[in-house]
Amino acid sequence: TERVDLAGVSKTYQTSSGETLALEATDLAIEPGEFVSIVGPSGCGKTTLLRLIAGFENATEGVVEVGGTRVTAPSADRGVVFQAPTLYPWLTVRGNVEFGPKVRGVSKTQRREQAERLLEQVGLGDFGDKRPYELSGGMQQRAQIARVLVNDPGIVLMDEPYGALDALTRERLQVDLLKLWRRAAKTIVFVTHSVDEAVFLSTRVIVMSARPGRIAIDREIDLPGDGP
Ligand code: ADP
Ligand code: ADP
Repeated sequence: TERVDLAGVSKTYQTSSGETLALEATDLAIEPGEFVSIVGPSGCGKTTLLRLIAGFENATEGVVEVGGTRVTAPSADRGVVFQAPTLYPWLTVRGNVEFGPKVRGVSKTQRREQAERLLEQVGLGDFGDKRPYELSGGMQQRAQIARVLVNDPGIVLMDEPYGALDALTRERLQVDLLKLWRRAAKTIVFVTHSVDEAVFLSTRVIVMSARPGRIAIDREIDLPGDGP
């Protein structure tokens, strides 16, 4: 689990028709183990904020730090889950989960053991031999989460991970995500359209306003006694 720090961060995109100030002079500190949801209207800079923390974009102004280190490029230590799973279709589900450890040189027995444990945790214990396209959308997203968590990232960044799923599947995955998060105690930054989802899942909700994108509301969520 790691701390996230944004200090005076702005992001301007250059386009053929001019410049877009997507995020303006943003200060934000996220403590280790927080589950922060980012909500707000389309185009308010939610994805930009997430991509800056992930290291897919560089800030035009200001500094982004994770775990006290300046972010300049993506890293497996910051796991990212997008709306559409990015599983390799030519690998089995287990092969997808083993891929990261394999690249890092983890031994075959050890990475197999890790993959099985993670697949079990996300409810796909019996589906390791399947190809991604044989699974439902919800199951693919579970596999994606297993693939990110197997790298033991200090922080998990999620961009509308359930946006493409039907309501029932979404509800099930939300509950699973909560359980996983409580067990792993990761720092999570979660972008969503849904205020309901944000309040249900998070310890803290940030509401952004558009044009230019900035933080309008930043609130801790009071959890009942049995909360995380
Ligand atoms: P959100 O995730 O809240 O919908 P985004 O971060 O995707 O918002 O976008 C914020 C603003 O930046 C929008 O006006 C969008 O059109 C613009 N934008 C996002 N990505 C790019 C890009 N790669 N090039 C140019 N403009 C972009
Ligand atoms: P999720 O809510 O994760 O999307 P579904 O509601 O699609 O899951 O599926 C619930 C259960 O139905 C799964 O745990 C699995 O046992 C079974 N199932 C769904 N789709 C498939 C499939 N394509 N192949 C095999 N089993 C499936």
